Amino acid sequence: MLAPYAVSDAESRGRRYPESAPRYRGEFQRDRDRIVHCSAFRRLEYKTQVFVNHEGDMFRTRLTHSIEVAQIGRSIARVLGINEDLVEAIALAHDLGHTPFGHAGQDALNDCMRDYGGFEHNLQSLRVVDELEQRYAEFPGLNLTFETREGILKHCALNHAEELAELGERFLRQQQPSLEAQVANVADEIAYNNHDVDDGLRAGLITLEQLEEITLFDEHHRQVQELFPQLNGRRVSHEVIRRMINHLVVDLVETSQARLAEYDPVDVSAVRACSGPIIGFSDGMKEKSRQLKRFLRQNMYRHYRVHRMTAKARRIIHALFDEFMNDPALLPDETRINLREGEQEGGSSGRARAVADYIAGMTDRFAIAEYERLFNPHIT
Ligand code: MG
Repeated sequence: MLAPYAVSDAESRGRRYPESAPRYRGEFQRDRDRIVHCSAFRRLEYKTQVFVNHEGDMFRTRLTHSIEVAQIGRSIARVLGINEDLVEAIALAHDLGHTPFGHAGQDALNDCMRDYGGFEHNLQSLRVVDELEQRYAEFPGLNLTFETREGILKHCALNHAEELAELGERFLRQQQPSLEAQVANVADEIAYNNHDVDDGLRAGLITLEQLEEITLFDEHHRQVQELFPQLNGRRVSHEVIRRMINHLVVDLVETSQARLAEYDPVDVSAVRACSGPIIGFSDGMKEKSRQLKRFLRQNMYRHYRVHRMTAKARRIIHALFDEFMNDPALLPDETRINLREGEQEGGSSGRARAVADYIAGMTDRFAIAEYERLFNPHIT
């Protein structure tokens, strides 16, 4: 039973290439299923956010991250009476366009693409589902619904918005996306803040003592110590983290419910017309969440051990890009054909885009291997 402000199959703005309705699934279930079966989704297993994939089997990858986002998003969607299938589809697809080596890879590729239209992982995720996946006879990409594509495109620069037709509209008109897209977006934030704490502790980049400065962590840490004074080791941090996630989700649900009651949107159009997002934390929780993010940025993402990895990642991406741009004959056949087509349509920008697509599609380990094959004379 969906609430009136939820996205429903009947009200969907449809697919770019019209298709008949699925027989035993909803439209957004079909989107989700197409995402799970696509090859960019499988590659998420070997892409990372903070750590490089080969650093250890215990850390999050973009695949497990996306599954966590889907889990958190669905829990929230169910309480709010909005479309769980759509939230799940957006959550599972939201990182499909990520480069190897996490944020460092994205920044490096954006740098390489500066004169050719830039590189933005949100836009790339959309490009993956709209163009790059080659699986269906009747259309390129996955031909997802408007609502899933809208959720994937979390943000975008205004100059890109103009090129994006119906998907760009909301950025130009300053409208909100569906509640489902809003939920997937916040679920992403809840997931990475918490799993980065977990992975950071595991890797020894941050300590429990340091985390005591962080209000959200400290509150729950004290509670766990009071309830279980004998508990030690990893179970302490896991108890704290599960309580933090729960606290964030409960705050988000209750704050969003109150705003839904206040704005009382009668349908999805009313949600879109709101002056700001409806889904969000209370002011108190927003501040706690900001404090945690700041902490992670300063102590973890800028940790020298992480920085060494990101510096290496940047060098690899730059080297691959320059080498392929200067000598496309080094590219595998299929990519070289894409490059020639791109060049015919868009000159050097088209050529650069084909190289960027190739690099963005690589997993961490593939990018490292490709670098070795190009620059290490002992490896073929
Ligand atoms: Mg994410």
